[in-house]
Amino acid sequence: MNIAVVGSINMDLVYQVPHIVKAGETLHSTKHEMFFGGKGANQAVTAGQLGADVNFIGNVGVDVFGEQALQNLQARGVNTSAIKKVGLTGQAIIQLADSGENSIVLFAGANFLVTTEQIQAERSKIEASNALLLQLEIPMPTVEFAASIAAQKGIPIILNPAPAQEISNSLLSKVSILTPNETELEVLTGLKTETDAELYQACSLLVQKGVGAVVVTLGEKGSYYLNSHEHGRIQANQVNVKDTTGAGDAFNGALAVGLCKGHSLKESILYASEVAAFAVTQMGAQPTLPSSF
Ligand code: ATP
Repeated sequence: MNIAVVGSINMDLVYQVPHIVKAGETLHSTKHEMFFGGKGANQAVTAGQLGADVNFIGNVGVDVFGEQALQNLQARGVNTSAIKKVGLTGQAIIQLADSGENSIVLFAGANFLVTTEQIQAERSKIEASNALLLQLEIPMPTVEFAASIAAQKGIPIILNPAPAQEISNSLLSKVSILTPNETELEVLTGLKTETDAELYQACSLLVQKGVGAVVVTLGEKGSYYLNSHEHGRIQANQVNVKDTTGAGDAFNGALAVGLCKGHSLKESILYASEVAAFAVTQMGAQPTLPSSF
């Protein structure tokens, strides 16, 4: 099972602070941790741990973080031969207040230097895959180009439309499975997304635009899915939550694997929910998953 991931690679720098720093204020951080992150990398690592051969197309920077991020992906079984070194590695600088509040500065760095030329040069990796996994932390024209390569070959495209932004109808019509959270669904449709009836309306609108299926992730409330012939809710699995960062990424990586294994949409969502629930019991966005998955 081959999965191509075209996406982002970040270092997540987490600083525990008594409160979120105010303008002009200098604050001591009481604890600092670094985690490997970036939606693309997180999803790739999950899919790899679940048995997929993952080819990653993207960038790290020409710096120490870049080297570490590359080594991490290799150690976790992701094929990194299509990862280029350019500019500075993407970073998420996260303040975590004692109250649990957080604030994040995102520096896209090398992720915003992933070009269509680079995708063209590596297109055989997409063409040889059973699914293409995409997010929106790299430039939109690059995402659109990667999708058009997969679409030409009839390869299923899973698009996690995060961070929230508008998407062209042309890209939507190529997507097999779109996986927004509630906020992203609202931005995509301009509709409210609180009740099941509202979710139905919003997802239906996207299916009318040519999306194969929509799977909305709802955090601890589970997920809602809709395609042309069925819709419903899947509950989240009950676990002792430690860190929900990257729950959506674990979900997407696992969903891709479930679908590539030939499971139905519903079966794949149940599988992804199990994996994501396990992921939130661990710190960081790239959990270590047991081989039993
Ligand atoms: P992120 O951007 O942090 O990756 P997201 O908003 O894209 O998150 P969520 O909706 O928070 O994604 O979570 C994805 C899936 O993970 C949910 O649909 C659910 O199955 C699972 N999940 C999330 N939070 C919990 C939780 N507290 N307990 C159990 N499962 C959870």
